[in-house]
Amino acid sequence: MTDPAKQNQPQNKKALKDSSGATLLLSELRSIMASSIHAEDKLSEICKLTATQFDVEVCSIYLMRSNDELELFATHGLNPDAVHKTHLKTGEGIVGYVAQHGTPLNIANASKNPNFAPRPLTGEEPYDSFCAVPIVREQKIRGILSIQSSRDEALAQQRVELLQTVAMVLAEFVASGDIISRHELALISKPMRKPTQLHGQTFSPGLVISQAFVHRPQPTVKNVIADDPAVEKARFQKAIDHLDDKINSLIGKTHDAMDTGIREMLESYRMFAQDKPWQDKIINMIDEGLTADAAVQRAQSETRSRFESLDTPILREKIHDINDISNRLIFALNDQNDNQDSRPDKFILVAKSLSPAALFEYGLDNIQAIVLSGGSRSGHIAIIARSVGIPLLGQCRDAFRYIRNGDQLIVDSDNGLLYLNPSDYVQDLYEGRLNQAKQQARRYQKNREKPARTLDGTDISLQMNAALLGEMPLLSDSSADGIGLFRTEISFMGRSRYPRVADQARFYSAVLDQAKGKTVTFRTVDIGGDKPLPYFKSPDEENPALGWRAMRIIMDRPAVLRTQTRALIRGANGRPLRMMLPFVSDVNELLQAKKLIKMEFDQAEKMGAPLPETFELGIMIEVPSIVWQLEEVFQHIDFAAIGTNDLKQYLFASDYRSDVLKDRYDVLSIAMLRVLRQIKTAADAADRPVSICGEMASRPIEAMALIALGFDTLSMPITAMGSVKDMIRSMHQGELTRYVDYLLRSGSGNIRKKLESYARDHNIRV
Ligand code: PEP
Ligand code: MG
Repeated sequence: MTDPAKQNQPQNKKALKDSSGATLLLSELRSIMASSIHAEDKLSEICKLTATQFDVEVCSIYLMRSNDELELFATHGLNPDAVHKTHLKTGEGIVGYVAQHGTPLNIANASKNPNFAPRPLTGEEPYDSFCAVPIVREQKIRGILSIQSSRDEALAQQRVELLQTVAMVLAEFVASGDIISRHELALISKPMRKPTQLHGQTFSPGLVISQAFVHRPQPTVKNVIADDPAVEKARFQKAIDHLDDKINSLIGKTHDAMDTGIREMLESYRMFAQDKPWQDKIINMIDEGLTADAAVQRAQSETRSRFESLDTPILREKIHDINDISNRLIFALNDQNDNQDSRPDKFILVAKSLSPAALFEYGLDNIQAIVLSGGSRSGHIAIIARSVGIPLLGQCRDAFRYIRNGDQLIVDSDNGLLYLNPSDYVQDLYEGRLNQAKQQARRYQKNREKPARTLDGTDISLQMNAALLGEMPLLSDSSADGIGLFRTEISFMGRSRYPRVADQARFYSAVLDQAKGKTVTFRTVDIGGDKPLPYFKSPDEENPALGWRAMRIIMDRPAVLRTQTRALIRGANGRPLRMMLPFVSDVNELLQAKKLIKMEFDQAEKMGAPLPETFELGIMIEVPSIVWQLEEVFQHIDFAAIGTNDLKQYLFASDYRSDVLKDRYDVLSIAMLRVLRQIKTAADAADRPVSICGEMASRPIEAMALIALGFDTLSMPITAMGSVKDMIRSMHQGELTRYVDYLLRSGSGNIRKKLESYARDHNIRV
């Protein structure tokens, strides 16, 4: 007689390696889940089924317990005595490593992997190929599903994805509370409630105390296996239509307020959502037996791992879009509350990563600061945050793990710090700093109409750095004399294809309209290096910072400069035009660029187009080699601006994004200051104005040193202008120049401390 407990037990099939493997695996899984056997026996059956289907010797399931250890709950192929007796800490062995990183690991030679730490009781030594995938629900690691084989080969990517599908089914099963009680599940990886300090990188400076709002937590896929593919396809289509409507309304909303570049960014986003092959792939997965939600999630992880393996910065940026679109779709499929209703008016936005679309959807005015667990200084979000003065702490690795909606946060981006649920002592300390900052802001406001004049009567021209059309109203609202650096490449970066001359011209014309007669210095595109364009093919370079960038591209692709010059002439439409060439390292590059510019002026004249009323051409001094060619260079240009960010980076051969080196080399060192003085002396001798437009100009103590060196034009983000003007109005240029001269003659290394003491002793407000 058959054992009644085993009546509903499914029969394992032979290994299936054909394309229908997924369908059959899912239908077998469904019958295991529907069977009446004990929950732990279901786990064993799933192990057996998975091992058979994947044609491997071993399949094991480890689940996370409340002591944050992984426990072996079921296995097929390892010693059954090891079940419930094998425990691994997060980070321990390959299984612990996958739990720590939350991403699959698929390797052929596990024994060569530094994380391989076989447990003798399990008898796993002979199995050298290892594929482990996390079992994740509501962003928490619930366990690990692993398969092992003695064959010396890693799993094909498609099979890894299938294993992830099994893990998705397991995640739901674990969440039911049938294996580990719901009470214990709630205790696992509970969020940090005690005061905690986290570290990150300053992508945009500033200090903010406010409540956290967590950006779209990963939606939960509740059902993985579908009952009826036709129903799932209809749900998918409805969700796509809903997403399309949402993006359309977002594009509509941005129409007036934003740059065409940002609108294009949203449009490329929509194009991705409408991508036919991507949609077809999801439909195929639904046909295999997945629900629409599970299919979207599987396509998401498949595309993500494909893009991640390509390892180019542009595609990494695209991963944010893919995640965002997929998450929106899953929310739409479930009418799930994505927490948007509980959002406070003003908040600190916490996210793993963020697409520009999401940023604008929140409204820049509502976001007080941003905390990202990833991101890069040159990413779109960082560029936008800096432009509009929102503090942004990036690479704050544990932020997304610990922070929950409503948590009290202090973001001290100036110092790369974040305090979660700060103690009263820390909160008081920072509130004191914020009050000081508010008082300062009031003082700056009072200074607004007053001149940026030193105590001994030297007038300093303060200018603004800009990149977006949306920033231009800040110019007329401020006392800035003009735009000292308009980074034109930023609007190129937001687009999905190279902008046409007419589009560029319209954009430059709008910038000049909004400048209302104040000067604008348009820097021609500084692309390449850390500012790649998605649609502009660049060679693969070992070291892009020293590679094909800006002028070097123009030398090989003259059309880049010619079309931009044409657009600038058209945009100026008879008004004065100032153009500045970045990254010039050799005088011949300048001469060649001048020829290209002249061709466009000649052409415009021939066509009878209105020429600019005045035309001034300048270069950026940011590559050290040009410092020793200045006498000749100044004969061919009207002005120069020093890009201290790049100049410092190349002078010290030290990447400004490097965390390890960021404090080692200082702009306030004798070497840098001597170079700056040498440039100023050469410019004075040639009777050419030279300004500073790198970040050095935006910090009061550095600006003080620059003024001591004789610089009288500083260009900076608008948010820095108040503090720099306040410093200027408290300093005496003549005295300081004598002191800095003395230090440059006699000192060595870094003179920051000496300058700080000087400022303190002379009541200079730095
Ligand atoms: C600089 O290098 O200082 C500069 C202003 O240019 P970038 O846009 O590269 O920061
Ligand atoms: Mg630069």
